[in-house]
Amino acid sequence: VYYGKDAIDPRCARYRGGSDDDWQELSSVELERGPDGFDRPRQHQALPEGFLWAEPSCQRFGMGGPRMAYGPLQKVCRTCGASFVFTAEEQKRWYEGYRLHTDVTAVHCARCRELRRAQRAYAQALEAARLEPQSAQRQLGVPLAALEVLRAGGRMALDKAFTHCRHAARLAERDEAQRLRDELRAYLASFRAAPEG
Ligand SMILES: [Zn+2]
Repeated sequence: VYYGKDAIDPRCARYRGGSDDDWQELSSVELERGPDGFDRPRQHQALPEGFLWAEPSCQRFGMGGPRMAYGPLQKVCRTCGASFVFTAEEQKRWYEGYRLHTDVTAVHCARCRELRRAQRAYAQALEAARLEPQSAQRQLGVPLAALEVLRAGGRMALDKAFTHCRHAARLAERDEAQRLRDELRAYLASFRAAPEG
């Protein structure tokens, strides 16, 4: 049974399911009001597989009210178009662990999220190397971060990574710089070996 966001039945636990606009009723679940004013499920009720109970007092929420339960959400990645599931466990971690606002939702698949994280770290490593040109560790940070981007499936120009390898080798870290240079070269070779497209 689907119904609109505004039609809130306090006797039913709700979760945002199917698509972003639908709320699906978990019809067998009854709630009772606790001393803190939040409704919670009565004891000993089972949720369908893949669902988790939510804890309203741990959430930051707006006019839509808190989440009572989390269920698997089918999503399409904004970047690569792959469909993925935003799981109940991830939602609980986002909204109750990291305390992100409950209006926030996942728009990228796990692979794209990983890649974006690696790209951000690479940009930070470049900045750190620029700020501390005499630090061998900072110089090594650039090829290290570039390798993380490559491992996450990203493609990028590697000239800066090689340049910072050379800086690090000149400053102190000759062996480590050589090792990273070899690893970067191996990636370049594998890209050349891969068929186009
Ligand atoms: Zn994606």
